[in-house]
Amino acid sequence: MLHIVECRHCYHAGRFKANDVAKVVGWDKPLETIRFRCKRCGRKDTEVKTQFIDRDHTFKGYFWVLQNARSY
Ligand SMILES: [Zn+2]
Repeated sequence: MLHIVECRHCYHAGRFKANDVAKVVGWDKPLETIRFRCKRCGRKDTEVKTQFIDRDHTFKGYFWVLQNARSY
């Protein structure tokens, strides 16, 4: 499963593996409470969607760095 994160400010979009996000913020953290920060413009005004994929290793994408995940 992937989280698609799109910046509402500059429309930069990125993807996280849900597993990686959960490792950082915890498995019981609701997705809407996680704050991602845009790598390009530094803003936190992001929209997050969830996408299901069959196999992780077939996925080639650009991953944002998960920053300030605990400072929501
Ligand atoms: Zn941005």
